[in-house]
Amino acid sequence: MVKNIKEAINQMELKIKALSVNESFVRATVSGFCLQLNPTIDELTDVKTAVSEAVTNSIVHAYPQGEVGDILIKANLYKDTIQIEILDFGVGISNLEEAKKPFYTTKPNQERSGMGFTVMESFMDTVEVSNNENGGLRVLLIKKFDLANNQKAKNMM
Ligand code: ATP
Ligand code: MG
Repeated sequence: MVKNIKEAINQMELKIKALSVNESFVRATVSGFCLQLNPTIDELTDVKTAVSEAVTNSIVHAYPQGEVGDILIKANLYKDTIQIEILDFGVGISNLEEAKKPFYTTKPNQERSGMGFTVMESFMDTVEVSNNENGGLRVLLIKKFDLANNQKAKNMM
């Protein structure tokens, strides 16, 4: 469920060019930001994987005309939850339901498997995809960390 921004304990925003070199930078930055909540390695890997899929999509699909547009990443931390928005200002998606289906890709000849949205959905608690009013795509990713169990595991070490 989307959280009330007023309850956020920390926030970050990162605006970056839609270049493939930036994919690992965004992944590392968001994962570093999450560390404050003491996630497990598995939880962190889930977030990294989902962010990586969303950012890669903006790099690969949003700006087909060759111009290098922007990607905006906004992350809010709550007591036990991270909420991440990945926004681009490119072409958007005309049929969202179709695009989210497993194996659907508009780039089959570029070694794309059409599994990006499916991967995001399997690793995060909530994935919302919508077109921005002024063009481009917005992907919202939410994950709750199991803080009680994470603390127990730490105490046992
Ligand atoms: P894979 O992620 O497995 O490499 P893929 O990127 O084609 O392949 P998805 O990530 O599931 O698969 O995306 C499905 C389709 O949705 C894409 O082929 C593309 O047509 C469209 N799409 C996804 N993200 C964007 C975006 N940010 N802007 C425009 N179109 C997009
Ligand atoms: Mg993809």
